Amino acid sequence: SSMMGLGIQQEKFQPVNLLQERNILPMTPLLPPKPNLHPELQKRNCRPDIFCCTLTSVPQTQTLLQKARLPLGLLLHPFKDVQHLPVITSSTIVRCRLCRTYINPFITFLQSQKWKCNLCYQINDIPDDFVFNPVTHSYGNPLERPEIQYSTIEFIAPAEYMVRPPQPAVYLFLFDVSFHAVATGYLSIVCQNIIDNLDSLPGDSRTRVGVMTYDGSLHFYNLQEGLTRPQMLVVTDTEDVFVPCPEGLLPNLQESKESGDSLGPATDFYKKLALDCSGQQVAVDLFLISDQHADLATLSGVCQFSAGSVHYYPALHVEHAPAGLQKLKADLQRYLTRKIGFEAIMKIRCSKGLSIHTFHGNFFVRSTDLLSLPNISPDAGFAVQLSIEDNLSDFPTVTFQTALLYTSSKGERRIRVHTLCLPVVTTVQDVHAGADPQAITCLLAKMAVDRTVSSSLSDARDALVNAAIDFLSASRTAGIGSGQSALFASYSLRLLPLYILALLKQPAIASASAQASLDSRVFAMCEIKLQPLAFLMPMIHPNLYRVDNFEGSLGEDGNLTSQPSILKLSAEKLSGDGIFLLDCGSVLYLWLSRNCNAGCLSNIFGVSNVSAIQPNTSSLPELQNPESERLRTFLGALRKDRPLYPLLHVIREIGPERVAFVRRLVEDRTESAMSYYEFLLHLQQQVCK
Ligand SMILES: [Zn+2]
Repeated sequence: SSMMGLGIQQEKFQPVNLLQERNILPMTPLLPPKPNLHPELQKRNCRPDIFCCTLTSVPQTQTLLQKARLPLGLLLHPFKDVQHLPVITSSTIVRCRLCRTYINPFITFLQSQKWKCNLCYQINDIPDDFVFNPVTHSYGNPLERPEIQYSTIEFIAPAEYMVRPPQPAVYLFLFDVSFHAVATGYLSIVCQNIIDNLDSLPGDSRTRVGVMTYDGSLHFYNLQEGLTRPQMLVVTDTEDVFVPCPEGLLPNLQESKESGDSLGPATDFYKKLALDCSGQQVAVDLFLISDQHADLATLSGVCQFSAGSVHYYPALHVEHAPAGLQKLKADLQRYLTRKIGFEAIMKIRCSKGLSIHTFHGNFFVRSTDLLSLPNISPDAGFAVQLSIEDNLSDFPTVTFQTALLYTSSKGERRIRVHTLCLPVVTTVQDVHAGADPQAITCLLAKMAVDRTVSSSLSDARDALVNAAIDFLSASRTAGIGSGQSALFASYSLRLLPLYILALLKQPAIASASAQASLDSRVFAMCEIKLQPLAFLMPMIHPNLYRVDNFEGSLGEDGNLTSQPSILKLSAEKLSGDGIFLLDCGSVLYLWLSRNCNAGCLSNIFGVSNVSAIQPNTSSLPELQNPESERLRTFLGALRKDRPLYPLLHVIREIGPERVAFVRRLVEDRTESAMSYYEFLLHLQQQVCK
């Protein structure tokens, strides 16, 4: 049909011989592929940073998917902060009467006020008020409705979408006040941060806040109005916990704000509290501040099944290791002030013929396609794996729709809907041409974490190498590129082997990572499970920039006029006199070469010699010169909107701390891991066997 077949066969999309093309990394961020759809449809499609598919051209059959040997799945960032969100208040929400899909830009309008569902193909009636334009008081064009114009919209839900009245925002802070915890000095920092942000906590006049502390026993605080000071209630019987004063424990925030700043001493009550959380619409977020093994692998389960999140600050100490404080404070700031949804459920629907078989993220699966989310945060990412159950040959496109039903912090029941439409294709070449290497890499990362837990790290690593061999073999079988011993990938997939190698060297999945403690590794795994694509990608394949001599100045808006180029992750790019920045997503490394330009050092650090810079330096002095301002602005731009504050580590080439930086140069060989070129040779050997 006219909607399809916009095949683009330009020169620049020719297959790439990986062994020959050694400089494949683009100097600017890689953009996701555009689905090969009619421009009218593509214009209204969901933004890829909210909802994307590993294969933007969906194979017509499961057999074709198996031939293409790439994973089929979706990545979602459903509650992401967005600038433009159409919010619809409507007495009736138009949905398919058979599959309950929300009316969306990809349905078909038929004659005599009917529409055809694009997921199950049921014919539905268009209700009168859908074509009624309340502004002109006339019957208008349904195409102008926001539901048909936008793929991301939010409905204010009527009463039938509630099982009980919308709950108020409730925040309960639990603090470990054991001797060891108190010794880190975290308590006053965190409490001050909470007090500073009390007025910014999402909520309204009904918001409730409570505090508990624990050591060998549990300490409840009665903060009820009328008391001159908080009343501490101690429960020593941790085998049989009860709530001593349900009224005062979660007091109304506005009525008892003064009591909030005295927080006393307290128990190991944590696990017990978490068990029933999900069923009671309670999410648990864990902030672990510990330089000792805390068995995060067990603790994190509490967050995982309650749709919470884990934050980890190893070796944080107010006096001895203060660098981490900056991160803790910034993370808390984001955590306390970001928007939040309560008592949420999320459902992902797919066109008939497609089905979801595995979910990734923090949630409780209530039924095959329904996720229970006691909380939904704008920083949470999700992924699903799909299979093709029935031949999709009757249809030029397929559609995926996510519906997130939640209670807002203002007590409104809302439904946020995202709809993604993709073309169906019939050849391996087309499947590969539409593949999204970043989405595939992130899905493979999430699958590798599952594999590590359910089987072993070495199995997970083998599966990753096999994923690279598989798709390259499929390319070869399908005749993508030619040459006896060449290693060809379609242009779209040219970075996938590099990304897979980066994944094999990622701290969560790397072998023999002696430096990393068990908890650090588990935390890295938690990150992979939770982070949306935009934040996960630099954690897997960091971005390297030279920052001592880049072009660009501060524009009038305070932003840089241009960004430094992205360099490939190899020591060959590190000249002996430069300063380089490595952005690993959750951490930033600033590399000072041995023979760093003295003028530049003096402008950025106020010293003339690298050895004058202290190890463990984590911030730049605010010096008034263009070089300092430019670099600090660039750091600020990288940190903006990140869910976790990336701490800066200044690394001197001459210092022992260099190891942390060097092991993220994934294209280079290390004692225990292959270089990019060696990896390609290994893949070629397997593929051409
Ligand atoms: Zn339907």
